[in-house]
Amino acid sequence: MTESLLERSARFIDGAVYEGPASVNPVDASFHEVADGVGLVCGFSHIWTLDAGEGLVVLDTSQPDYASAALEHLRHWRDVPVDTIVYTHGHLDHVSGAPVFVGDAVERRRPPPTVVAHDEVGPRLDRYALTRGYNDLIGARQFGRRYRPGFFDADWVEPQVTYSEDLELDVGGTRMQLIHEKGETDDHTIAWLPQQGVLFTGDLMIWAFPNAGNPQKVQRYPAEWAAALRRMIDLRPCLLAPAHGLPIAGTERIARVLDDTATALEGLVADTLAMMNGGAPLDEILHTVRVPDDLLERPYLRPSYDEPEFVVRNIWRLYGGWHDANPARLKPAPDAAVAAEVAAMAGGAAALARRATELCEAGELRLACQLVEWAAQAAPADGEVHAARAEVYRIRRDSEQSLMARNLFRQAFYSSKARLQPEQAAD
Ligand SMILES: [Zn+2]
Repeated sequence: MTESLLERSARFIDGAVYEGPASVNPVDASFHEVADGVGLVCGFSHIWTLDAGEGLVVLDTSQPDYASAALEHLRHWRDVPVDTIVYTHGHLDHVSGAPVFVGDAVERRRPPPTVVAHDEVGPRLDRYALTRGYNDLIGARQFGRRYRPGFFDADWVEPQVTYSEDLELDVGGTRMQLIHEKGETDDHTIAWLPQQGVLFTGDLMIWAFPNAGNPQKVQRYPAEWAAALRRMIDLRPCLLAPAHGLPIAGTERIARVLDDTATALEGLVADTLAMMNGGAPLDEILHTVRVPDDLLERPYLRPSYDEPEFVVRNIWRLYGGWHDANPARLKPAPDAAVAAEVAAMAGGAAALARRATELCEAGELRLACQLVEWAAQAAPADGEVHAARAEVYRIRRDSEQSLMARNLFRQAFYSSKARLQPEQAAD
């Protein structure tokens, strides 16, 4: 007997077992009837569906390839029209499969589904149109080899029904409450089935440390996220249906997971604010505030995607603005001018690069990166410097746990590697 997703999540949570990111986040386009009338298609973001009697409600549409796979599964499961699509938020990996659902309805001469979302989803999609180039660059940095260039050229379907605080849907007599929460984004919807006790969480639960710090994205809301998790506990769901990761069954088990996640976020917010109120600069806060190790070791809180240090930065930005309280960085000299001055004092860019290599070998990776970056900025055409830089960032990448840190350092590694002669390139 293969283990069901619910059995796996129970084993992981109850036994504090962690078998790596892939084990908690299936993306294989497989279909699972997780509860009576509640289906899941696993994807880069999942597609959840509910048989509401007279039609299906689909929660998130993932990306076009997963949407096509989902339609195939749904045809075998319940061959009835998709009545309603709910976007849990406007991230493209959750909404860009929608045109596939609409196209299928048109092809089969069925009325197209109605798309429902929070008021802020439309403005988000407008922002994507303004920032296509930037989003394509940062997507490549964040996801590395997994990124498909042009992802932000994807199509989507604008929501036809939007709401501000909450909205009650009735599809074929099945009641679904949509509730607005802020957390990863300002446009999040959680969906609650009071009769069945099923809660669809969107990205408020992702089986990784909350994505509340992403270095290259707009503001996220850690305190509001924690408050949303507390309200989710109060609903006493018996099935939790997240947009990434494993579904979870059992009211107590679900409450424990949500409580741990809220506690981790609340600690970061409280400690960061306390230091801000005490006059500490961002530098001191970044190197002081921590999430307790026992929380970070939970199988659903591993910093495998985002990480607490980035969340601290987002808390600072949310409550304090962008200035880090170092007066030299209020109106700084250009990076290249600072690098040239430091290199001259050090005896040249090569000397800086050598020292960076020594620090790297001693495990002082943060310092090593700074010195090698100065070396490369002072001598951007120097092959030896780039050889050192590539090596420092290769080691830095391998030392990091979060996908975001790994891939951003990976990109620095590749940018120097690309400048090297073939005989100098390693890895
Ligand atoms: Zn997501």
